[in-house]
Amino acid sequence: MKFVRHAVCIDCGQTVAARPEITTCPACGGLLDIIYDYEAIKRSLSRRVLAARPEPTMWRYAELLPVETETAARMAAEGLRVGNSPLYPAPNLAAETGIRTLYIKDDGQNPTASLKDRASAMAVAKALEAGRNVIACSSTGNAASSLAGNCARAGMETYIFVPERAPKGKVAQLLIFGAHVFSVQGDYGATFRLSAAAIKKYGWYNRNAAINPYLLEGKKTAALEIAEQLDWQVPDYLALSVGDGCTIAGVWKGFCDLYHAGLIDRLPRLLSVQAAGCCPIHNALRSGGPLQPMAENTLADSIAVGMPRNPKKALRAIRESNGVAVEVSDDEILAAMRLLGKSCGVFAEPAAATALAGLVRARKENRIPAACSVVCLISGNGLKDVANGIRAAGEPRLVAPSPEEFTL
Ligand SMILES: *Cc1c(COP(=O)(O)O)cnc(C)c1O
Ligand SMILES: [Zn+2]
Repeated sequence: MKFVRHAVCIDCGQTVAARPEITTCPACGGLLDIIYDYEAIKRSLSRRVLAARPEPTMWRYAELLPVETETAARMAAEGLRVGNSPLYPAPNLAAETGIRTLYIKDDGQNPTASLKDRASAMAVAKALEAGRNVIACSSTGNAASSLAGNCARAGMETYIFVPERAPKGKVAQLLIFGAHVFSVQGDYGATFRLSAAAIKKYGWYNRNAAINPYLLEGKKTAALEIAEQLDWQVPDYLALSVGDGCTIAGVWKGFCDLYHAGLIDRLPRLLSVQAAGCCPIHNALRSGGPLQPMAENTLADSIAVGMPRNPKKALRAIRESNGVAVEVSDDEILAAMRLLGKSCGVFAEPAAATALAGLVRARKENRIPAACSVVCLISGNGLKDVANGIRAAGEPRLVAPSPEEFTL
């Protein structure tokens, strides 16, 4: 890894050699950050170099990723097409929400239909480097389905633990991709604990995002793409939904890395959105105290994380960016699904539409100004959870199959 310096513990500050198998600080068990040699990156990566690079996946940012050059090339050639999701200008939605400039980053267009593909592709890359071919994870659904898909493509075996309430679409993906699936009779916390025990017992490679710093580096590619797609003009705000907190931490790391590498000249502010029925990260943000676990009372299953594993990095990201934190109700999430579909032609799953619901609320409460530019990250596709799509939009009108009787 030519451009990776080392990993550093966010708790005790210890530096650690960034080997593929390390996931936490050997001294204190804390979370690790991957640190790059930004001066070396500056010398080999520029806006011009990137513009001339044809690679259409997340692996186009190889210098900013914690993998060997050969691994990135192999993933680009042999992996699923992860990344390169569209960034749509959304003038109608901007007018609706009262914002000057709004873009929708449709990450539901990843191969298994969520942003989690970015982390799972990274997990496959790191497992390849570690010489491992069995990966496991626990997930509310998308981390699992993306891992199963990306592993199927790489010929790797997967063991997946999902909470019983995971939507059918996501479970169907797992089974179709040939994963060994365990549907756990409990919430996400119970699912996570069971998977951690099984991973220890059987020695599988661990894709649980919160503790694996490489996965966050995969998620950060969403930020790298946004910056490049906007021709390096950084938006004022980045709206995104938060469950475990790895996505927001990853996206923030992406912008920070670009800044340190001289590719952008300022940083966006984060608009962190949680469901009101499950917002332990925002509660911790406001109290300044340790995180208190919370019940998982929201239909946005992908962000129903009552006991986040990664609150430290998420809290740090929101604070460092001088961010804004808002909570939204399930009704606001359903309304945002309709609004996004109708005004942009993008079908979001509830957790993804949560980002837009938060933006609508933040504008209503004047927590962000009208005269600003916002990128709203849509993190997963609505076809994964058709039941809630119908709940948001309603049933069609039933008509008799009779041309004579049919009227509008
Ligand atoms: C996982 C996920 C999120 C949130 O990411 P965290 O890292 O858990 O905060 C948001 N939306 C969708 C669709 C997801 O799958
Ligand atoms: Zn440490």
